[in-house]
Amino acid sequence: MCAQDTIDFVKNDIAEVGALVRSLSSRYERIFENLRASFAVELGRADSMVAAAHAGVAIADAAATSFREHMPNQPVIACSASCAACCHLHVKVPPGVAALISDYITANFSVEDRAALRVRLENAAAASRHAADATALRQRCPLLGQDDRCSVYPVRPPSCRAFTSGSVSRCHEVVFGPNTDGGGVTQSAAHFRIYMEATAALETAARNRGIPHHQIELSAALLDQIGPSDQA
Ligand code: SF4
Repeated sequence: MCAQDTIDFVKNDIAEVGALVRSLSSRYERIFENLRASFAVELGRADSMVAAAHAGVAIADAAATSFREHMPNQPVIACSASCAACCHLHVKVPPGVAALISDYITANFSVEDRAALRVRLENAAAASRHAADATALRQRCPLLGQDDRCSVYPVRPPSCRAFTSGSVSRCHEVVFGPNTDGGGVTQSAAHFRIYMEATAALETAARNRGIPHHQIELSAALLDQIGPSDQA
């Protein structure tokens, strides 16, 4: 084999793999186009926004699990059940999610627990309302149990499901330290994107039904659902 043949072989070999990687890259993007289309179909035909929220998180959970199981080079996730740092960040919910959580609370919380939760929700909603920048606020989520576990874990909001971290200590710095800009926490980008697609799909489903479609701060949204009196 002469030198030119060798050079051509090396160049063509790289070009062939380059073309394969480019085609894989566009196929990768199609995962999200297909995901968006699946959300549109399922959330569009749901009977109610609660049903849409239920379907949205189920699809997103399945997508996130499949990503973890099948995609190579996934980032390390340092989150553990004993860490609740991100449960001190500002949380917003898309349409349907607060109603889903409210139904769960009605079915699973005692009257006493619901009354205590109402007080925490009112305090948290007031703090958000009066904050100059609510997104910079660091306060314990009213739904975080005394054991530092989410008391509505099976129906927690998409943004809570979306957040992952590669470093517990970095999360603690960002949440509890003086620098509260929220930056610098390494996340699983694909995982985050899946739940943001679910959030956008719920907003679109609400808009298509002609009802309010913007995200609302979690405590205020839950108080809207629970109503002025929770004595029943
Ligand atoms: S809803 Fe649950 S997971 Fe989300 S911030 Fe509150 S306690 Fe944490």
